[in-house]
Amino acid sequence: MELEALTKIWRLSPAASALLLSFLQFRREPHARLAHLARLEPKVVPAALDELRSHGLIERGTDRDRRYGLADAETLERLARRTAAGTDLDGDRLALELEILREVREAVGRPSITVISPRERAHADDGPPPPRAVTAYLRALFPYLDLRLGTRCNFNCRYCLLGHEKRSTRSLEALEADLHHGRRLGLECLSLTGGEPSLHPDLLRIIRRGRALGYRRVILVTNASLLGAGRNLERLLEAGVDAVGFSFDAPDPAVSRRLWRRDAYTQVLDGIRRVMAHDELVVGSISVLTRLNMHLLPELVRLLAELARDRRGLYLPAIDFVMPEENAWAHRRALVPRLTEATPHLEAALDEARRLGLPLTFRGVPACVMPAHREWDMERYMSIFDVVDLGDRSLQHRAGLDFLRHKPPGCATCVHRRGCLGVYRAYANLYGTDELRPVPHGPREEAPCAW
Ligand code: SF4
Repeated sequence: MELEALTKIWRLSPAASALLLSFLQFRREPHARLAHLARLEPKVVPAALDELRSHGLIERGTDRDRRYGLADAETLERLARRTAAGTDLDGDRLALELEILREVREAVGRPSITVISPRERAHADDGPPPPRAVTAYLRALFPYLDLRLGTRCNFNCRYCLLGHEKRSTRSLEALEADLHHGRRLGLECLSLTGGEPSLHPDLLRIIRRGRALGYRRVILVTNASLLGAGRNLERLLEAGVDAVGFSFDAPDPAVSRRLWRRDAYTQVLDGIRRVMAHDELVVGSISVLTRLNMHLLPELVRLLAELARDRRGLYLPAIDFVMPEENAWAHRRALVPRLTEATPHLEAALDEARRLGLPLTFRGVPACVMPAHREWDMERYMSIFDVVDLGDRSLQHRAGLDFLRHKPPGCATCVHRRGCLGVYRAYANLYGTDELRPVPHGPREEAPCAW
């Protein structure tokens, strides 16, 4: 997304333009993250900040961690129209950009409502079709309303994407309003996330309310640490949960403790065992691939296959390459491997899964880095960043979250250019893009790096 007209009227320097675009996509940001978000040299950030502040485009917060945020949408619009008056700027273009700006700001301001949908494969690529387990899973759960119950959590994972958010619990009233809104959008599946949703004091009521409103499926996305205790799981199922998505990263208590910063391996495994014993549940799992656990991935697959051995119900595990944002950005040196370091481990895990008949999927590794197992690449079928709903106006806009991904110019020549989302922008910040090799059309052979 480029806002050429807006940056032109203020005659912004390239650095200030880059910062302005970054502010558009995010909420209030601490000073320490700005260079990273805008992909700038840290030394140019102060001057770019001054430039934006001199135009009234950003404001400094009152908090102690020195956060900055974009002026509200109305102020920006007023400033833009006033500055543009009397210039020869294309009025239609400016109006269009202001509309985009409003939409993106609203999306950023409403993080609790996200609609997650399958991607339209017609626009994706012509690679191998999805395996049956993937199709069944997508049919069973998507699209769904992704309802965040709050940000409170009993873990503090090193890769958590809520790193700098204040820990809070959303009120029952606010959640009910979102539940109604999801039904007005015609959504029938409801996913309850957090933080850790099982900590919400009104969880059972929210589940029952969702069911009463007509959600035919309720998914609990959890770290599973509380599901093994007493009748916790049974009470959730009685209230209306019929699908569970759990996180599990490593078949090793010490590595799990380092990743979760909580000693909960046994409880989590108990919870997962209890979930797996319920064949009627649709189950998914996510394991985050990091430098700390990548060497354990084949062993992880063996454990997941063992846990799912007697299941007849649907189970779709996934390995996600760590997104180097928030906590993971803070721990990037310890946590984020290079793609080319990680893919031999991921490939070994996928080989092992095929051997064991486990429908293991993955996300976050482009086809040019790991050409094998493409039919198991969930990003070809869905994207957690695909559709953002803006709440009241039911408007969908991808721009706000597409910003987290980066495709260098060479991708334009690649046979995978439509289906591939590229790499995480923060990954490109960290390691660059010289591991990416556009795959030419026709017979496959590696092309030299084009950027
Ligand atoms: S070259 Fe670009 S489009 Fe092609 S697979 Fe790699 S990241 Fe994706």
